[in-house]
Amino acid sequence: MTSSALVVPTGMKDETHAGAKARARARLFGDFVREVPFAAALLDRDLVLLAVSPAWTAQAIAPRVAVGDDASDLVAAEDRAALLACAHEGADFSRYLPADAEDGSRRFWRTEFNACKDERGQVYGVMVTARDVTGYAESVLRAERDEQRLRMALELDDLLVREYDLRTGEMYFSDTAPELKKWCAFKEDPLEIVHPDDRQQCADVMASRKIGEARVFEFRLKRDDGIETWIRAVGKVFVDKDGQPEKLVNLFKDITDRRRRTEAIETLAFRDPLTGLPNRALFQHRFNEAAAASETLGEKFGLIMIDIDHFKDINDTLGHDAGDALLKRLAGMLRHAFRSGDTVARLGGDEFAVILRGLHGEADMMRPIQNLQTLLRRPIEHGGRSFTASASIGAVLHGDPEADPEHVIKNADIALYRAKEAGRNRSVLFEPSMRSEVERRIELLRDIRAAVEASEFTLFYQPVVDIRENRVAGFEALMRWAHPEQGVLTPARFMVAFEDQELSLRLGDLALEQALRQMRAWLDQGVEFGRVAVNISAAQFRSGRLAEEIQERLTRWNVPSQRLTIEVTENVYMGWGSDLVSENVRKLHAAGVMIALDDFGTGYASLANLRQFPIDRLKIDKSFVQNAEDEAIVKAVITLGSSMGMKVVAEGVEDPEQLEALIRYGCDQIQGYHFGKPMPADEVVGFLAGFGG
Ligand code: C2E
Ligand code: CA
Ligand code: CA
Repeated sequence: MTSSALVVPTGMKDETHAGAKARARARLFGDFVREVPFAAALLDRDLVLLAVSPAWTAQAIAPRVAVGDDASDLVAAEDRAALLACAHEGADFSRYLPADAEDGSRRFWRTEFNACKDERGQVYGVMVTARDVTGYAESVLRAERDEQRLRMALELDDLLVREYDLRTGEMYFSDTAPELKKWCAFKEDPLEIVHPDDRQQCADVMASRKIGEARVFEFRLKRDDGIETWIRAVGKVFVDKDGQPEKLVNLFKDITDRRRRTEAIETLAFRDPLTGLPNRALFQHRFNEAAAASETLGEKFGLIMIDIDHFKDINDTLGHDAGDALLKRLAGMLRHAFRSGDTVARLGGDEFAVILRGLHGEADMMRPIQNLQTLLRRPIEHGGRSFTASASIGAVLHGDPEADPEHVIKNADIALYRAKEAGRNRSVLFEPSMRSEVERRIELLRDIRAAVEASEFTLFYQPVVDIRENRVAGFEALMRWAHPEQGVLTPARFMVAFEDQELSLRLGDLALEQALRQMRAWLDQGVEFGRVAVNISAAQFRSGRLAEEIQERLTRWNVPSQRLTIEVTENVYMGWGSDLVSENVRKLHAAGVMIALDDFGTGYASLANLRQFPIDRLKIDKSFVQNAEDEAIVKAVITLGSSMGMKVVAEGVEDPEQLEALIRYGCDQIQGYHFGKPMPADEVVGFLAGFGG
């Protein structure tokens, strides 16, 4: 290792003046390097090691290279080009160089390669300095490892990373999830990639996001191939050291599958399969949300309960298909009548409910209800048939944050109940005064049910007298409740039972059965009672088999059908399912059962309307008989009835004047306190005996 070796390096045969000068500088510089108190080395332009500092030697950096040797080996093979570029073009660079220390530990050197230039900018050598950066390098390596781990995670999770430089508009994508990449690039607005339907929601998330804060959100991609792709994204804006927004970094994941799965599960758990509406569980959830918003924010919300009128009849008579069609139609109408943000749910059967959030007052709720009622008036086509349906609606506005939201549902139910009670096909808004009344009613129905079980219901018999022949033509069987504490109660005290579908059926059953048993007993005893009239409620026609049921009973009790009259009010004829009523009445009439039209004059039927039904008896309601001003009506009814071949019965005749007038008008039969009040069966024999005399 002589100085001549330094002066005449290999490959420098055509030595120039400049070259000599350069070498002189390098030599000078070499003296300096040998003095510096840190690890340093000097190479000439041809990468020959000219000098090293004592620290370099002591720390055994690159022990393979000695002064005078080619120092290309200082760097790894792939960095040779960089070293040459430094030596010839002056391009500085740096590397971490690992080296094994004497104690066997691995150290890391941050090695800088700086070109040494003369005043004209000519490179005459490369200055290499090395710093022990073992701690730092380890952390860098760790970061590299972390980065590798991160990459693995990205790949495993099929995540796409997008970095968007907010200043230059440059966009960088990771090479993971390549199929997402082409839908995640945008030109100006990050929202460009979002499906128009989800844009607002994403815009809201972005607007609410503070700089530097990461937000997760889900949206559908806007894809021109029409394939629905759900994305779960997290986004964060990074700032520079002055706190200025620098770049937007997003991670995207395709969650279409997961979304479909959860949707399917949600559909199962929270949707009514027939109508696709939220079910009771989802309704309850939304209701709780509304109640919470009311409590914390004082937000007003409305609850509407909807019940299809006589749905059971439609199902029973037109079939379940028609019932399903009606439910679907109603679901459609409800969606149409209410805002998309309102929760329209099917709670079960023919019960629907709507939650309306953010209301200002009752008007906000009544408007859509009116829309709904308008829609409901349109006929529904099903299986070539057309029918109309109506609904009863109960509504309540909840605006008192102090009030218990549990009551809201109850109150809406109460309003619905009132709507049904008032004759259905209407809507009722809840008022606090309604509660006690309805609660009493519910209690009464409960008591009545118990009384039916305890056989406390029985029939009383009121005579009907034929005034031409002056004899008892028969009896009307009237229901009484033999209340253990309150004595014998008339239907005025349990009218609700005849309006309740289930109870009116049970009482109807009971009346027919008891009346027939009684007739059988009288026949056996040889009591000449004439006919017994039994009142039939609308509910009893709904089975569609009333005629058969009555005939079966007559046969079972061996009572001739001529002994039985059924009394049907005109409202039953005119109401829903009049086809069914007419058919059953016709069968019974044909079998010899007498048909009486009850309470004539109180409903809407005209005699002309009723002509089509086989009616034998017309019963003038007692309100006309007892009101002297209605004389003309009574007269007209008797004339008309007789001209149509019907016998006319006047009810509620209490005094001789009324009786006399009716005789003059040509009335056939009389029923009233004048001849006899309703009495228990065991008084009938005595009454008959007394009447004859
Ligand atoms: P309705 O069928 O019109 O029965 C006649 C009602 O007039 C009976 O009332 C009877 O007691 C009453 N009445 C008869 N004559 C007079 C009179 O001279 N003066 C006065 N003030 N009232 C008189 P009741 O027994 O209280 O029955 C009331 C209603 O309850 C009946 O009216 C009927 O609609 C219903 N009802 C009674 N029993 C049954 C039943 O077994 N089934 C059904 N579905 N309804 C029944
Ligand atoms: Ca009657
Ligand atoms: Ca009557």
